[in-house]
Amino acid sequence: MSSTTQATPIPLSRKPAGRSASGAKTACIRTFGCQMNVHDSDRMRRMIQDAGYAEVQRYEDADLVILNTCYVRENAVDRVKGHLGELNRLRREGRVKKVALTGCIGAAEESAALQRTYDIDLVLGTHNTYELAEFVGLPTMRETYTPELPGTEGEHNAFVTIMTGCNYQCSYCIVPSVRGRMICRPMESVTREVKNLVAGGTGYVTLLGQTVDAWRHEGRRFCDLLEAVSEIAPRVWFTTSHPSNMEERTLRAIGERDTIVKRLHLPVQSGSDRMLKVMHRGYKAERYRRKIEVFREATPDGTLSTDIIVGHPGETEEDHEQTLRLVEDCAFDSAYIFKFSPRRGTEAATLPGTVPDAVVQRRFLEVLRQVEQNAFLRNQRKVGEVEEIYIRHGSTEDGKAIGETWSGHAVHVNTGAAPGNYVKARIESAGPHVLYARIMN
Ligand code: SAM
Ligand code: SF4
Repeated sequence: MSSTTQATPIPLSRKPAGRSASGAKTACIRTFGCQMNVHDSDRMRRMIQDAGYAEVQRYEDADLVILNTCYVRENAVDRVKGHLGELNRLRREGRVKKVALTGCIGAAEESAALQRTYDIDLVLGTHNTYELAEFVGLPTMRETYTPELPGTEGEHNAFVTIMTGCNYQCSYCIVPSVRGRMICRPMESVTREVKNLVAGGTGYVTLLGQTVDAWRHEGRRFCDLLEAVSEIAPRVWFTTSHPSNMEERTLRAIGERDTIVKRLHLPVQSGSDRMLKVMHRGYKAERYRRKIEVFREATPDGTLSTDIIVGHPGETEEDHEQTLRLVEDCAFDSAYIFKFSPRRGTEAATLPGTVPDAVVQRRFLEVLRQVEQNAFLRNQRKVGEVEEIYIRHGSTEDGKAIGETWSGHAVHVNTGAAPGNYVKARIESAGPHVLYARIMN
């Protein structure tokens, strides 16, 4: 879908470093949180560009600052409060004119108090992001800036939203309150966007949603969509998935289809059936293990990552032991481990059985150690192999670019190749988080 533009969009490659030399209005977008927020920021970036703003990187160079925020854990909110305090100071000094708070905090009740405390000019949730367009002076409404609008980072690597919201009610999670119920985007709309992106030079497409594998539309299921996209795009990945929705067919497609990155992110949250029930996750640990067996069998070389919460109310030592056992059995290549953070409005925030901070910290470190040990051993097995590496970020001062193998491993490699290109390199060493490769001569 195209937008009704008021001004020629400014390509990001020509992003000014400081206050716009031409005297144009300037805006700075700061993104907190997950890929969904990165993608939402991308859409807002399109709006400010269409309104004739030049994008700047520093608050003090910006007329308008947009904080696009995350509400999933309390520390995310604390970080945003720190930025709001700083922006208040800059505004008093006349160096910033307007501040907008968008995203998941914007959709939460707490945003009203934040608006008063920090004198925020505009607060938008995740469902009315399009109203930013009006705020920056575009005569545009809802239908112009929908999830179907491609972002501006579409050069070599693009996110494509296939669904919004979530129909689960996990005990601890604020996402359903701030992002609403699941809405799946029609298949043709997704494939049309992917075709346009690929025609424009995008080589890597990531399908996005809170539970992408729950995607359904007019009798078609997620695997149908994934297969269709894998026939259009040269490189495809998807995130995030829910174990209850993950079908064997999808797990096999990851192994069979050349264009799908062999990397599965499947959040488990806990290895204890008792905790999984309290969390309302809808599966048992054994069912999760079986899915992982299928994935490992279909994709022996692939990478597996997960999310784990430690210290959910009521978590006992026995529950924790079961999580450690599951981590060992599944031999994750990486994991995001979170300390439970009570979110007002969720069931878990009212549950008894708070786990003391010191215990949470110990459990966190124990899970982390277990994940890192497994990951280190698995990564060591890659040493000596020659891999085709997709360059995600070009080289920095140390001459190392950051890339990704087809198996989904992150690699540091000594190349000046630009993002979006492929290089061949030999894996020379490995740590728990990353592989180190040298270009073949
Ligand atoms: N939709 C995904 C799923 O079902 O697993 C994850 C979405 S959530 C934004 C990302 C991760 O944050 C979750 O998998 C969970 O581990 C973590 N998380 C969510 N709420 C949390 C809370 N209140 N405290 C700690 N971690 C939390
Ligand atoms: Fe949150 Fe659960 Fe939905 Fe994931 S599936 S977004 S953890 S409610």
